[in-house]
Amino acid sequence: MTSPFIHVEKLTKRFGDNAEVIALDNISFDIADSEFIAVLGPSGCGKSTLLRIAAGLIPYEEGRAQILGRDIQGPSPEIGIVFQKANLLPWRDVAGNLRLAIELQKQRPADLEQRVTDMLVVLGLQDFRTRYPHELSGGMQQRVAIGQALMANPRMLLMDEPFGALDALTRDRLNVELLRMWQADQKTVMLVTHSIAEAIFLADRVLVMSARPGRVLQDIRIDLPRPRDPRSTRELPAFGKYVVQLSEMMGVT
Ligand code: ADP
Repeated sequence: MTSPFIHVEKLTKRFGDNAEVIALDNISFDIADSEFIAVLGPSGCGKSTLLRIAAGLIPYEEGRAQILGRDIQGPSPEIGIVFQKANLLPWRDVAGNLRLAIELQKQRPADLEQRVTDMLVVLGLQDFRTRYPHELSGGMQQRVAIGQALMANPRMLLMDEPFGALDALTRDRLNVELLRMWQADQKTVMLVTHSIAEAIFLADRVLVMSARPGRVLQDIRIDLPRPRDPRSTRELPAFGKYVVQLSEMMGVT
C-alpha cells in the first residue's frame, strides 16, 4: 500500500516553560495525495500549530507526523506555504518576488524567466510584472504570495488563513482561482480557515477541531460535485446541510 501524503498519529504539542499549554491533544488523521483538506476550528484551537508542524517549522515531542512515509524533521522542498499576510519584499517588483523562492535554491533553472512569465499568467498578473507590492491591492499581494509558494513546484500547499484579511468578493475570487490551480496540477492542499463556508466550498474533507486543547472532533467528507463555483455550489441543498452540520458542531447555532 502506498503511504498517505501526510500521516499524523497521536500527535500532542505543548507550549510553555512547563509544557502547561496543550495546543494539540492526541490528533490523528491522514491526507491522501492530491486531496484538499480544510482544517476548521475556533481561534486558538491549534490550527496554525498543526500547519507549522506539517511544514517542519516547529518541533513536536509526542506522537508522529510524516510526509510520504518519512518523519517530518524540518522544512521540505515538497511543501509550499502561504500565510495570512503576504510577506513580500517591498523593494522587489512582482517578478522579483516570484523569483525569490528559486533564488534561494542552490541551482537556478535556465528557464527561470519563462517560469515567472507562466506563473504571472496563472495568477492573472501579467500586467503587473514590474509593479511593486505597495502598488498592488491586498488580493493581488496574496496572489503573489501564492505564486511564490508555487514557483518551486511543491507537491503540497499548506495555507494558513490565506484569505482571512481580504474582503468577501476578493476572497471568493481567490477561492475560485485556488480551485482552478489545484485542479490543474492536482496538488495536495491543507488549508486552515475559520470560515465554515470557505471550508465546505473548497475542500474534499473538513477536519473540525475543538477549542483548546485542539482535538479533531470530526472528519467530514464534502460530497459536492466539482468543478465548483461560488454561486451554484452555495445554492445546492447539500451545501446548506453541510453549513448547518458544521455550525452545530462548532456551537455557532
Ligand atoms: P489557531 O491557529 O487555531 O488560532 P494556534 O495554533 O495559533 O491556534 O495556537 C494554539 C494554542 O497554542 C493557543 O492557546 C496559543 O496561545 C498557543 N501557542 C501557540 N504558539 C505558541 C508559542 N510559540 N508559545 C506558547 N504558546 C503558543
